Amino acid sequence: MNRHAWVLIGIASLAPASNAAADPDTQAPGQRVAAAGSQPSVAGPTENVTGRVRVDPLFAADAAIAASSAYVTFEPGARSAWHTHPAGQRLVVTAGVGLTQEWGKPIQVIRPGDVVVCPPGVRHWHGAGPRTAMTHLAVTGVVEGKSVEWMQKVSDEEYNRHVGL
Ligand code: MN
Repeated sequence: MNRHAWVLIGIASLAPASNAAADPDTQAPGQRVAAAGSQPSVAGPTENVTGRVRVDPLFAADAAIAASSAYVTFEPGARSAWHTHPAGQRLVVTAGVGLTQEWGKPIQVIRPGDVVVCPPGVRHWHGAGPRTAMTHLAVTGVVEGKSVEWMQKVSDEEYNRHVGL
């Protein structure tokens, strides 16, 4: 047997053991399904929202993915307070028609399928329309255990500057 063949056999015989040791899938815990209905809804905290807001948690941040996620439903007229996210946030509107605003800019109408990209540190709010509820999927980055910095509530005067609804 020539040297080339030994190298091939050596690689072939080493490969499975080597892959097994290096493959994170063999070390990691298995896939897990959090069954629908297993994570109770919670009310949006009154100090950080105006009106009725329901949060349906989906997943928490962990060592692999530094972001948490939830469905958030705002009843008509309800909205978050002004806030920032130290690691940013993504919103995907899934139902209803709502509103969002970045500080210093006009209020925008958001509808199902719209994707809102909130960069880190940008002050904003999100909520329902005056006569329509709105639900969005929220994916919120977490850095050093923090995902949001709450500020003052959105006043009726600020909220009522919306146009188009
Ligand atoms: Mn936000």
